[in-house]
Amino acid sequence: MSSISSEKIVALLRSEIANYEIEKRNHDIGTVSYVGDGIATIHGLDGVMYGEIVVFENGVKGMVQDIRKNEIGCILFDLEGSIKEGTKVTRTEKMASAPVGSGYIGRVINALGDPIDGGGSIDADDYYPIERPAPSIIDRQSVCQPLETGILSIDSMFPIGRGQRELIIGDRQTGKTSIATDTIINQKGKDVICIYVAIGQKASTVAKLVGSLRKYGAMDYTIVVSATASEPAPVQYIAPYAGTAIAEYFMYRGKDVLIVYDDLSKHAVAYREISLLLERSPGREAYPGDVFYLHSRLLERSAKLSDAKGGGSITALPIIETQSGDVSAYIPTNVISITDGQIYLESGLFFSGMRPAVNVGLSVSRVGGAAQTKAMKKASGSIRIDLAQYREMEIFTQFSSDLDDSTQKQLKYGKGLMELLKQPLNHPMSMPHQVITLVAATNKLFVNTPVNRIKKTQAAMLEYFGSHAADIERELEEKKVLTDELCEKIIAVAKDFFANPILSR
Ligand code: ATP
Ligand code: MG
Repeated sequence: MSSISSEKIVALLRSEIANYEIEKRNHDIGTVSYVGDGIATIHGLDGVMYGEIVVFENGVKGMVQDIRKNEIGCILFDLEGSIKEGTKVTRTEKMASAPVGSGYIGRVINALGDPIDGGGSIDADDYYPIERPAPSIIDRQSVCQPLETGILSIDSMFPIGRGQRELIIGDRQTGKTSIATDTIINQKGKDVICIYVAIGQKASTVAKLVGSLRKYGAMDYTIVVSATASEPAPVQYIAPYAGTAIAEYFMYRGKDVLIVYDDLSKHAVAYREISLLLERSPGREAYPGDVFYLHSRLLERSAKLSDAKGGGSITALPIIETQSGDVSAYIPTNVISITDGQIYLESGLFFSGMRPAVNVGLSVSRVGGAAQTKAMKKASGSIRIDLAQYREMEIFTQFSSDLDDSTQKQLKYGKGLMELLKQPLNHPMSMPHQVITLVAATNKLFVNTPVNRIKKTQAAMLEYFGSHAADIERELEEKKVLTDELCEKIIAVAKDFFANPILSR
């Protein structure tokens, strides 16, 4: 009796399993009904999820981006190759994910995680989904630690904190990328992992950038994710998300990460291309309606985690290119409203030789002040107002020839400040050097130096401090506070320097 029933059960199970597989297979395989421009329309993949990876017969992978009543729209991560009408497509039941791991540090990879620097293959420690919800409010803490860029005009007036998102915005060729790379170079020895995501750039530009990072030893802690202009739009579209997945891997392990998206204008253009091909209705400037969400869900993933979550952080420096300074265009306004401030670079300043071309009036950092070191905060106290006054006065006095003494002095002081804020490429300044420069400048010690000699004098002065008062730098480095005594000491040493006509000439 019992043997019969067990046989029955086995038979029943067998038939169930057999039927289940047949049914599953039907849902798992679809056929291409249309393909072109990096997009495929597929029939028959009934249970497919949004964002799922599907594989075509010739091995090309795609991601489901559009689910309609009887068909799905899918973006391709490679050239179409032999995909044609009727080609079979298989589900993977996996969401798009990026390989992550510390093996990626020092490497140049494409958006799919494959090395493109001629080095060997990389062993991934894990796979992280390229799209992940941002850390919740409970899991965060407010920005409290500085991320020093090494650029005087930024660190003094628009300080950036770890976990902040600061937009770099400006016309083409105004030094946007340079600010980002200088910041990466300045992270040497500061235990920050840097990720540079190149979107829609020329391969030669990226190669040059990697070369200069290598030259300054910055590739030791940097990962470059590159989706060049020649790659299909879907690859450019996922590149920043893949870069962020790698950043999250480190952040959730308690590390500080700096990620640069260069640039999000091209990212939006790649997304617009995909959306138009998927026949979504175009909105303003032909971008789809969800282009705000495209960038907000990306940048919201940058955070400073709470101590309970390990205290790691992702600091984001998205870059946006404007057309003839128009910050009120669609994509610039979107990203301005998502980020915690912007560094506005102006071509007028850039061409007049003011480099980095930071526009002091239009730039802002909304949260970084809380993270600035006390020393820096005190040293840079009045510089923004001084510069604002100078700019106003400069416009006002442009056409008048006889100026009174105090106005002339004010103008000279302002001009000197502007000159001091100039900084050559790849020359990050340490915090103590910045503080010493600011203290000397705001105490008007540079006013008698001819403008064309200011940069030389500044370098000589910092050298003088190094050789005659190294303890000042050490104290600033260690305590990060500018006490009144220390301030007096800096002024005294600087006065000694300026009293020596041979040194300060
Ligand atoms: P694109 O719009 O092409 O991406 P960009 O805004 O990123 O340009 P960069 O490539 O950073 O600008 O810089 C443009 C040029 O300006 C480069 O040749 C660079 O060497 C020069 N440059 C940038 N910053 C400085 C600086 N502080 N001092 C001197 N030259 C600079
Ligand atoms: Mg650039």
